[in-house]
Amino acid sequence: MKKFDCIFLDRDGTLNPDPGYINNILDYNFYDFTLPALKMMCKNNNRFCIVTNQSGVARGLIPIKNLNIINDFIKKEFSANNISLLDIYMCFDHPNNASIRRKPGSGMFLEAKKEYNIKLSKCLMVGDSIIDMEAGKNLGMETMLVLTGKGKETLKNFQDSKCITYFADNIYEGFRQLCR
Ligand SMILES: [Mg+2]
Repeated sequence: MKKFDCIFLDRDGTLNPDPGYINNILDYNFYDFTLPALKMMCKNNNRFCIVTNQSGVARGLIPIKNLNIINDFIKKEFSANNISLLDIYMCFDHPNNASIRRKPGSGMFLEAKKEYNIKLSKCLMVGDSIIDMEAGKNLGMETMLVLTGKGKETLKNFQDSKCITYFADNIYEGFRQLCR
């Protein structure tokens, strides 16, 4: 089984369906396979960080308070399943006015590196969009494109991308590849 220093997870389209700008806990749900996938990958002491662009905040569509309620739910579910979650990093920037924190920028990853002493070149980034893959690749990580969320569209447009280390139908299938 592969052991990474940390596995960085995109949120929308990777851990949960992505209808766009989820702004209420009532609209937030993990995919059925998400927690089993993470539990499987935890068996080798893998630990996780969530890194998520939430431009809905800058767009005025998502109150930060509601995002925090969703984060509390995610933390509670991870904890109940003994999944080691170091932190959840969020970027609220609008893409037209983005700082280095917004993926594919490195800001959120560098914050995690500093706060948790993570060796980024020994990490994996899992996500459904090209910006997730670019963010990981730029920091020397392995990357996994999941075909949930926007993943199929991403695959169509970036099949030859050198940014992508692993392809998987979803996070469960992806982690199963790594556990062989
Ligand atoms: Mg996504």
